[in-house]
Amino acid sequence: MSGFVEKPEPLQVPGLVHLHTGKVRDLYQNEAGDLVMVASDRMSAFDWVLPTVIPDKGRVLTQLSLWWFDQVAELMPNHVLSTELPAGAPADWAGRTLICRSLQMVPVESVARGYLTGSGLLEYNESRTVCGLALPEGLVDGSELPAPIFTPATKAAVGEHDENVSYEVVARQVGADTAAQLRQATLAVYAKGRDIARDRGIILADTKFEFGFDGETLVLADEVLTPDSSRFWPADQWEPGRAQPSYDKQYVRDWLTSPESGWDRKSEQPPPPLPEQVVEATRARYVEAFERLTGTSWS
Ligand code: ATP
Ligand code: MG
Repeated sequence: MSGFVEKPEPLQVPGLVHLHTGKVRDLYQNEAGDLVMVASDRMSAFDWVLPTVIPDKGRVLTQLSLWWFDQVAELMPNHVLSTELPAGAPADWAGRTLICRSLQMVPVESVARGYLTGSGLLEYNESRTVCGLALPEGLVDGSELPAPIFTPATKAAVGEHDENVSYEVVARQVGADTAAQLRQATLAVYAKGRDIARDRGIILADTKFEFGFDGETLVLADEVLTPDSSRFWPADQWEPGRAQPSYDKQYVRDWLTSPESGWDRKSEQPPPPLPEQVVEATRARYVEAFERLTGTSWS
């Protein structure tokens, strides 16, 4: 079992049609046919959307994505049309809402990895490969890879796992030309993001992009280089051979799997609400990632 512990009801906003409730974002269409993307404060972990929200999280993700879209604008066009709040939208949507070009999404999670961890490490330990790509012997959790790699995954529905696949599988699914474009764009945006993050004392270990087509043009969509879509590690604490401290859901995952939560991940039961100190610590990590990367203060 997995999915939403409590699925939120879409809001009724005049002139907007509700399209989809994602794990984090609510999607609407406006009268011009553009996408209205509202990033909520919802948090997902272990394929569950938790019953507790992290205040400001949706705003941090939105503002950080906007900053990154600008940083990489010379490499890739992006889907943002406007940050103006639709007329009649709730005040709470301010700062978390983007009007975007509605794209024909490519159904691939375009992942770049510069460091080995997570699902990449699991596959490496079995076969010395990640997504079928051969890697040298001797790498451990947190090792830097000889060069960044494109490790795509298929996009799963809410409550299901994304599945790592080889480049060949992606090429069969979306066509050789599109696959080549995805790989090129993913590695280019990753490299730029990695260099900018490194200057600010943060290792961009890996990240996931989503792309869509506007006619014939491949466009960077969704969110970019946020703590939800990326692993950010404080560079001064990097130590291969163990799990790295990270600017993301680590507090939440650690608490959920600790005896204190009383939750058994393998049970069919939904996870419990998060205690206040876990919410606060998680919010602080998201805000700190924003501040360190952008060099601006959150408040
Ligand atoms: P799911 O929607 O399957 O739950 P998710 O949890 O990643 O996946 P969210 O991030 O909450 O979803 O919602 C964003 C959704 O909007 C994703 O399905 C993403 O593919 C889609 N999306 C992002 N940008 C665009 C765009 N420009 N045009 C159309 N769809 C987009
Ligand atoms: Mg998403």
